[in-house]
Amino acid sequence: MKRKTRVIKLGEVPIGGDNPITIQSMTNTITADTDSTIAQIKDLEAAGCDIVRVAVANIDDAQAIKDIKAQINIPIIADIQYNYRLALESIKYGVDGLRINPGNIGSLTRVKEIVKSCKERSIPIRIGVNSGSIKQEYLEKYNGVNAKSMVYSALEQIKLLEELDFYDIKISLKASDVPLTIESYTMMAEMRNYPLHLGITEAGPAWRGTIKSAVGIGSLLSKGIGDTIRISLTADPVEEIKVGREILKSLGLLNQGLEIISCPTCGRTRINLMEIVEEAEKRLENIKGHMKVAIMGCPVNGPGEAREADIGIAGGNGKVIFFSKGQIVKRVREEDILDELIKEVKKIDNL
Ligand code: SF4
Repeated sequence: MKRKTRVIKLGEVPIGGDNPITIQSMTNTITADTDSTIAQIKDLEAAGCDIVRVAVANIDDAQAIKDIKAQINIPIIADIQYNYRLALESIKYGVDGLRINPGNIGSLTRVKEIVKSCKERSIPIRIGVNSGSIKQEYLEKYNGVNAKSMVYSALEQIKLLEELDFYDIKISLKASDVPLTIESYTMMAEMRNYPLHLGITEAGPAWRGTIKSAVGIGSLLSKGIGDTIRISLTADPVEEIKVGREILKSLGLLNQGLEIISCPTCGRTRINLMEIVEEAEKRLENIKGHMKVAIMGCPVNGPGEAREADIGIAGGNGKVIFFSKGQIVKRVREEDILDELIKEVKKIDNL
């Protein structure tokens, strides 16, 4: 059961409460290079990204938000490090959300200015503590990097906003260590009801990072904790969206796109299953709705899974049995499997 939180809105996208879990990514272009940034955001949108974050490192980046926003369809968040003026400029140019820690920007007057501006335009702020950026004071008080030092470091930032009567907040507590991340978010979930932005930070290259993210984010989501997710991979950001979608699909939190069920193959397999599955995945990538396709290697264990799927194939010796919605519809030769699969899928989905 999903944890109840406050609801915030990034543009038209609600986060928290009973709303669907959203997937975010961050561009890796120079933000002020609007052509490249817009092109990358459009690729992210096409892959299913709900919210995008851009780095705002100077005034050109902040100003670019206006042009970028005019050409994209998803909310945009400005990632600000220390310069409160860049936060104010980003707001002026139409950003939908800020990622900034109020404790990093100097005087209370500056924090007040940002809060005032965010309130006027209903712009939420993400407070984010990473295991590498915990304040010295908390490291000393709680004996190093651990869930307590992360959570209390974030609470200090949160209190700064709460004291100014600002509650449009979401929180992230990311570490590259999976158990630490899980413990930190779990602890925060018991202390505050703000929506949580989940992520395993600096998770690494695509393959390893995917596994770490799936274990960390998946564990939290399965406990009902988490409202929006970002997968951090050293890879094309579009890969982050694909991974995020698969994590949500595997937990039944997203019913969209292709779900492939395929067996690991064994000594009973008499068709070239690996090649068929790989090709099917490519050809069915753009499925519009939600579809379960089972591709199984033999007539012994294959038919059970094939019957349960929207479209199912159970391999045999050179020939396979096709199922559609639980019924056997035909038998086809191995060389015709992919074409016949596409035909059957098209009867159900506007591929
Ligand atoms: Fe082997 Fe058949 Fe199971 Fe595939 S479905 S692993 S071929 S027993």
